Amino acid sequence: MVTQLKRGGTRLTTIPQHVIWMECGCGRNAPVRVSHLLACDNPPETVTDVVERVRCSGCGVRGAKDFRIVYNPEGGAAFNAMRGSEQRQD
Ligand SMILES: [Zn+2]
Repeated sequence: MVTQLKRGGTRLTTIPQHVIWMECGCGRNAPVRVSHLLACDNPPETVTDVVERVRCSGCGVRGAKDFRIVYNPEGGAAFNAMRGSEQRQD
């Protein structure tokens, strides 16, 4: 069970249990755990900051075409399931 939001201005500090699932125009997609972003020395402030800064590891384009914010506590089964489907696409 996941809760999906789409609020680019959401502050990362308010959603530490979420994952931002980003998709590139080339079709590549990847999840980024908010708690990991917040652990950086100079963490991004909002979801928009993250989505605009990200660079696709497939085609090198900067900025995600689309994104979803998914509630997913650390170690959650849904997150592992998504990781599995990502690996199969590769
Ligand atoms: Zn790409």
